Amino acid sequence: MSHFSYRPDFVRDPRPVDLTARPDLAAALDAVNRDLAATLPEAGPMRLTCTPSDDENLPDAYHVALPDGRWHNFVTEPVAADIADAAQETVQAVLWQVWPVCPEHRTGVHAAAVADERAVWWCRIGEGHELCEVGELAQTLPGKQRRALRREERRREG
Ligand SMILES: [Zn+2]
Repeated sequence: MSHFSYRPDFVRDPRPVDLTARPDLAAALDAVNRDLAATLPEAGPMRLTCTPSDDENLPDAYHVALPDGRWHNFVTEPVAADIADAAQETVQAVLWQVWPVCPEHRTGVHAAAVADERAVWWCRIGEGHELCEVGELAQTLPGKQRRALRREERRREG
């Protein structure tokens, strides 16, 4: 046994995830990045990284990292909603930002998994309501902001 056995996971550097092998995670990350581009562009695009487990009984730890590589917490065996959730945790813990926000209730919403492996942003106020599917946050913006965003997209595409 080497002393390295005692190194905790967080000491090791996460590596990039090969998204061509995980189209489900690629799509989940794209959706989160669309939402960031629409509402918190300074936090994106985020990247998916992984700290491989060195214990076959423990799963690999996935992180959703800011462009500069900073991340907070991890998820294991992720599905789409977990990717959104991990992105949100990184934004909150590293950037101290509540994101995304329900425009109606002006409070933070949460990632939730619903039927057919869909991931939605869910507002917990009152009975609770679905704000939108993850990736569709631009649709929830007021018309003026939405139009400005489309102009910005057209400008970027040239
Ligand atoms: Zn709400």
